[in-house]
Formats: sequence, C-alpha cells, structure tokens
Amino acid sequence: MKVTFPHMGYMWVCLKAMLEYLDVEVVVPPPTSKKTLTLGTKHASEFACLPLKLNLGNFIEAYELGAEAILMAGGCGPCRFGYYAYVQKEILNDLQYNYNLIVLEPPEKHISEFLIKVKQLTGSKSWYQVIKAIRFGYLKAKAVDEMEKISLKSRPRELNTGSTDLAFKLALAEIDRAGTTDDLAVALVKAREIMSSVILDNHRSVIKIGLVGEIYTLLDPFSNQNIEKHLGKMGVEVDRSIYLSEWVNDHLFMGLVKNVRSREEACRASRPYLNHFVGGHGEETIGNTVLYAKNGYDGVIQLLPFTCMPEIVAQSILPGVCTDHNISVMSLILDEQSGEAGIITRLEAFVDLLNRKKEQREAVTA
Ligand code: SF4
Repeated sequence: MKVTFPHMGYMWVCLKAMLEYLDVEVVVPPPTSKKTLTLGTKHASEFACLPLKLNLGNFIEAYELGAEAILMAGGCGPCRFGYYAYVQKEILNDLQYNYNLIVLEPPEKHISEFLIKVKQLTGSKSWYQVIKAIRFGYLKAKAVDEMEKISLKSRPRELNTGSTDLAFKLALAEIDRAGTTDDLAVALVKAREIMSSVILDNHRSVIKIGLVGEIYTLLDPFSNQNIEKHLGKMGVEVDRSIYLSEWVNDHLFMGLVKNVRSREEACRASRPYLNHFVGGHGEETIGNTVLYAKNGYDGVIQLLPFTCMPEIVAQSILPGVCTDHNISVMSLILDEQSGEAGIITRLEAFVDLLNRKKEQREAVTA
C-alpha cells in the first residue's frame, strides 16, 4: 500500500523517514503550489479553512502519482479539526479518488495508543522496529527544526542575500538523505557545517518578532507566503512559537521527551486572559504573546487561516494583551485570496513601526 500525507512545510521529511524505515512505500506529494491550492479550493467548501484545501490538493496530486492511502493526524474539537480528515475523505470519495484513510488520533491516556496505530500500518514489523521508526522520524523532525532555527537567526545578518536560503536547502537535503540513525548523526554534522558557512554580520542591528498562531500556517511557507524569509530580509530575527518536533512531543508522545519547549508554559502564561482550551493553538497564541513581551521582543505577528475559530477567539483577546504588556501585534489572515505582494506591504509597514519604536526607546535610555 503506497502511503501519502499532507506536505505541510517540512513535515514530509520526518513522515517519509518514519514510514520508509518500516519499509512502507511512500508517495510524497509534490511541493505545495498554486496548482495544489487551485485543486483544493475547487473541491472544498468555500468556508473550509485553508489547510484543508491545501491537504486536499496534496492528496489529489499524490493520487495521480499512485498513492493509495492517506496518513493524517486527527484531533478533537472544539474546532473543525476533529472531523477534518473524514471530510477530506468524503470529498475525495465523491471525486472517485478511492483512498484508504489512516488517522493518527492523539492518544488520550498513554503513548501506547499511538504506537498501536502506527503498527497497524506496518503489519508484520515488530514493536521494537515500530518504536525505532517513530524515534527516527522524531529525530529527523528535530534536525529539520534545528536548521530552521539557525536560518531564522542568520537570515537578517547574512552578508550575501539568499545565502541562508541556499544553505538551508542543502542542509535539508543532507537530512532527508539519511536512511538510518547513524547516517542522520553524520548528516546533522554536515548540515550544521553548511549552515555555519553563511557569512554573517553579527554587529548588525536587528529587531525581534515572535510568530504565533495556527500551526499549519506557522509551519508551511507556501501558506504563509514565505513570511519568515521576507521578515529576515527586512532585518528581522524571527522566533516561531511552534515547531513540529515540539508538537509531536506534546500531542503524540504526551510530553515524554523532557527539557524541550512545551505548550504547558504558554498555556500557563495565557491566564487570566484565556482560561480554557478553545481548540487548535488559541491558548498558545495568547500565552506566547505574553512570553514574547516579557522576553523583550519588539513585536508579535499572529498567523491564522480565514475562519479559523481558535485563532479568532485569540485575536479578539490580543488587544488587551498588547495594552497590558506594551507590545505591538499584527494579525495576518490567510486564504486563497492572499497575495505575496500585499503581505510584504503589510510586513514592511509593521517592521517600520517597530523600528521607529525601538529608536524612540533607545533615544530615551541613551
Ligand atoms: S485550528 Fe483553525 S485552521 Fe485548523 S482545523 Fe481548526 S479551525 Fe481549521
């Protein structure tokens, strides 16, 4: 059975690694493009959120390359994510794309629930192999996250425009090529060397912006119109509040891996503004905005797909957080109508505002 999954940023690297480790045949959907979006938009309800449309486009493109089953994360309410995978399956059925659907629902009580679901995919593989494969996929996610974090620091300081992007591409290819845990350790050393070869001006003055919001639009450069690259080129050091390996640890491993950033801290910081789960990453959006303000960031950008319920809740609370913590926040709503030029114009205006505020602060303290 040939398995596919949502492309979603660089998630494909770790899912491909995990499945191939278990000798499962994989069809990676082509990189998300305008064509993917057009396919998804054509067949989904107009008011479905952007990630659903992009997933649908990914699955249609993968089907044409021979994929037979979809592997997707599941979730619970209160937002639409709980029935998201099943809606996609129904739409695909109507279009005569006859897929099997495998949903990895987050475990409710114990990580063994997650292991059982992965094992269903692989038939005869032993528990030991399943655990090793999951660990391998997780290590790949961590390696990719590390490269992304380095690129966020180096992009605003690079001397040769575009050198970080090029280095990241090469580093990602090294990580993707690794077929075993030992290979990955070697690839990681090479990838770090590649990233450190970017020539930087470490004395350049940069401003710092935290990115918060809905996970898909945070992780996927196509859906957020390459926001991290644009900000980097405007001299902004970006910190993203969610990385894939952190999400996996929080939601699928139930926090088994210690000493990594977890959603708990952000959820605690969201009190008293938001005292309960609203679905998606609404609590984290509020909590991380508070934490960015406390950590001296110049501003925060919230990313949300049009009609994303948890982020609409968070958006309505953010003005109070801005006032109390004296931090500037801009919300960017993304859908199939979003255009890169329009986003760049808004980013330039926001960055200009933050630079002026920084200059004023520095003038007062000088
Ligand atoms: S979190 Fe937002 S974008 Fe994601 S499924 Fe829920 S409503 Fe849609």
